[in-house]
Amino acid sequence: MGAMDSGVRQQVIRLIAMGGTIAFDSTANGAVPRLDGSDLSAWVDADDVSIEPVDVAQISSIGLRDEHLLRLAGTVTDAIRDGCAGVLITHGTDTLEETAYFLALTCPRGYLSIVLTAAMRHNGMPGPDGPANLRAALATVTDRAVPDAGPVVVMADEIHAARFVTKSHGTRLAAFASPLCGPIGQVVEDRATIWFAPRYTDYVGHPEGTTLPRIELLKMVIGITPQSFRAIVDTAPDGLVIEGFGGGHLPPDLLDVLDRAVAEGIPTVIASRCGDGPTLGSTYAVPGAEIDLRARGAIMAGSLSGVKARLRLAVALATDTPPAAAFPTS
Ligand code: ASP
Repeated sequence: MGAMDSGVRQQVIRLIAMGGTIAFDSTANGAVPRLDGSDLSAWVDADDVSIEPVDVAQISSIGLRDEHLLRLAGTVTDAIRDGCAGVLITHGTDTLEETAYFLALTCPRGYLSIVLTAAMRHNGMPGPDGPANLRAALATVTDRAVPDAGPVVVMADEIHAARFVTKSHGTRLAAFASPLCGPIGQVVEDRATIWFAPRYTDYVGHPEGTTLPRIELLKMVIGITPQSFRAIVDTAPDGLVIEGFGGGHLPPDLLDVLDRAVAEGIPTVIASRCGDGPTLGSTYAVPGAEIDLRARGAIMAGSLSGVKARLRLAVALATDTPPAAAFPTS
């Protein structure tokens, strides 16, 4: 990074540490979180930006809860208020796509760069990827095109938009993909390039408090029983997301339970379990397909994955946005 021009105010970047493998190191019993935000800041030498570490969590991302997501969104809002140029969020890979999309739902675009990064190999392994990913994320956070792209995930020198990114491999260094559109940019020789910026709007609103509405997620498979679906409806969730077959379809056996959920006022969103492509609206006329489901009061998710549709429904309910107005997403 080049030295700053004299008299030019240094850009402030907040490095927000959430834990994850990027912060893990070996012990005799296996890897555990060890590094905090200031340890991670020491990896990057940037004389044209000032990096301010903030610790929100130091855990594996499998343990993140609503309160962590809400605290993180609040920390990003603080950074906007304080005039920071960007936030660099270090996180576990397992739930990275959910956190990135939660920020897209709750933080309006255009104010600052929101860049998330992580590691697949912890710091006690040969060739840990955390330092290189953090360096690429730093090159991205200072790029002027990034605020308008919304939150992005930088892994293995690829830049992915929050809306589409997903962890698609359990162990590979290049573990992330954006099935619908591919990465939106790349980092080469410490320079980020954004090829195209998403045109859709993800932002729904900024929820208050420390918890989100309880939305349950159920995946459809051959042989799923109405009992399992009924057991979830019996818990009276605030909302339901069903990852249906293909274009968003349920087995006919489950339709009575769906009717009950809708009659009880539980907003029920149907996503596709395919991992790519949108739900349908008006093609198939058989019971359990989209025409029937919509007539019964279900809401189609569009091209959002089930886990992201779940967050969108939670934020819609938490901000008094009618669920039907928040979906489908294109
Ligand atoms: N279980 C870890 C986590 O998500 C995996 C990782 O960071 O790669 O925190």
